[in-house]
Amino acid sequence: MSDTLANADSTVTDVNLLCPICKTDRFLPFNGRENARCANCHAMERTRLLWLVLDKHGLFKPGLRVMHIAPELPLIKRFSELLSDRYYACDINPERYSSKFTTLRPLDISCDLVKIPSCSFDVIIHSHVLEHVRCDVEPVLQEFERILAPGGHHYLSVPIRGDETREDMSDELPLAERLRLFGQADHYRLFGRRSLPEMLDRVWGAREKHHVEPLDLFTPGELAMAAIPEDAWSGIGGHTIFHHVRPLIRGASAAARASRPEPSKERGAASARDAADVFAGVGPKLILHIGMPKTGTTSIQRWLTANRDEARRAGLDYWSIAENHSEAIFMAFATQKRIDKGTMWFQRAAASAKLDSDACRKSFDAFLSGLGDRTGYVSAEALWSFGPEDVRNLALYLRQRQVQALILCWIRPPAEFLKTSTQQLCRSTLAVSDFGIRFHRKIPLDYRRLDAWVEQFGRERVATQQFDSDVVAKLEKLLGAFGIDFKASRKSERLLNPSISLVAAKALLALNMTANGENPDRSRRLRNILLDIGGPDFQLPDSVLRRMRSAFEKEAGYLSDVLSMDREWLLPETGGIDDASFFQWNYDEVINLLSAIAGALAKPEDKSDKGSGGGSRL
Ligand SMILES: [Zn+2]
Repeated sequence: MSDTLANADSTVTDVNLLCPICKTDRFLPFNGRENARCANCHAMERTRLLWLVLDKHGLFKPGLRVMHIAPELPLIKRFSELLSDRYYACDINPERYSSKFTTLRPLDISCDLVKIPSCSFDVIIHSHVLEHVRCDVEPVLQEFERILAPGGHHYLSVPIRGDETREDMSDELPLAERLRLFGQADHYRLFGRRSLPEMLDRVWGAREKHHVEPLDLFTPGELAMAAIPEDAWSGIGGHTIFHHVRPLIRGASAAARASRPEPSKERGAASARDAADVFAGVGPKLILHIGMPKTGTTSIQRWLTANRDEARRAGLDYWSIAENHSEAIFMAFATQKRIDKGTMWFQRAAASAKLDSDACRKSFDAFLSGLGDRTGYVSAEALWSFGPEDVRNLALYLRQRQVQALILCWIRPPAEFLKTSTQQLCRSTLAVSDFGIRFHRKIPLDYRRLDAWVEQFGRERVATQQFDSDVVAKLEKLLGAFGIDFKASRKSERLLNPSISLVAAKALLALNMTANGENPDRSRRLRNILLDIGGPDFQLPDSVLRRMRSAFEKEAGYLSDVLSMDREWLLPETGGIDDASFFQWNYDEVINLLSAIAGALAKPEDKSDKGSGGGSRL
């Protein structure tokens, strides 16, 4: 626009004014408000104020993930230059925008937010959007809170009129009436000066204020220069920017945490309390027990089955169906590719009847809709094997049904997990030759699979618990924190897979190497005999522990950094034994072994099938 033209229209030129965005000094009136609009970049008052605030908060910086709904053009330009594809500009009608800087994506915040993984954005911005949304605003704000990363910023502004929010989403309201009540034909509400902060208290946590006071950040001179009207300098009005930083830990418990005298030694108990806090909201509740392997999952399942009725009366509904529900949940939510491959290293190899995916979902659906006020409990080994896609499927499904899920996972320290799993595999498939460099492929140490759960459900909904031998007692305590208390019977049941001696392990390794494939019946019988051989406790050879050291540290680092588990607990001093003792036999051991075999063979065959091989669960 040339100078002559600019002077010819009603442009007001004022040497004291400067658009903070484009640095021009020419402004236009709008709707009777003087200097409302920048003559060059067309930014309105609230956009200029938002710009100043974002700049003051240091949020014009590369690397941030920014979600911007109904984006203002000057901000589109700045953010897309800074962030390129980390900038997520979106609108319910993306075709309204023809920006050369970025591609607008379609997003209907009334229904699409549930599809976005938790903690996806560092900044969320929307100005004058919520009055257009034809659904309850509070759940929308809750979804925004979920997809905002801890420490992330949320900015919003809305039209404000009166103290109370008034809304009408009906079709019957005549257009003229809608215009009169809400100022625009596509407005479903106007927010109240008092109601809106109350709602923000509920979603963002009650604090002193949820809005930016411009005079706290800027001098009157700076605000006047940006042509921000004086009535917007403080208090709540139509220009007000509401602002929230998602707490790094979590709103509700941040204060409680600060007042705790010192961090609890027993992280499990602390995280149980936190988990209970998270679970306090409304809607169906579901505890998803996802593993990990070798953490007493079967004991827990047996205990819950045995006490199913008592648990139900106390408000806990255990999903225990006729089929193997680990497989059912796998069939319901795993990607077709994984179902086709049929690889579940965690699972019984014994062929079970093929379950139908639709039927599995229906069965799960029926369970969820039958919950009522009770908390659902699903324990499925298959969940530990879920990859990001599978977890996403399940998370989306639960969000669409507004189910609050808590992901429960018992953790064994990496070295201990390796040791226990090695013993387990000795019983069936592991051979001495496997102890070479491919050993870690036999037993995947991959705690980072939890990332998919953290991403989809949010860090605060993933409750990791320290495993110890009395996992059932710990679960009882955890449920107690949720207010679920019941008199449960505790039959002292024999350990499913008791540890084996070092001599037994060596004998089994030797057997696996030589006898695999030959007369399975005789191998099975021999395995059962070998399991009983006494001797010193099983330990891993030093060379394996040395080789795995950095993997242990990496996994422990992940669990302590991302899931706040105790690093020292995760990395205990693990004693190995020297390789010679592990891989070689001595005279006494062989005598011991031969006499045990002779003794067992002299007895009639025991028909029980304890610890039999053939791919029993890891
Ligand atoms: Zn401008």
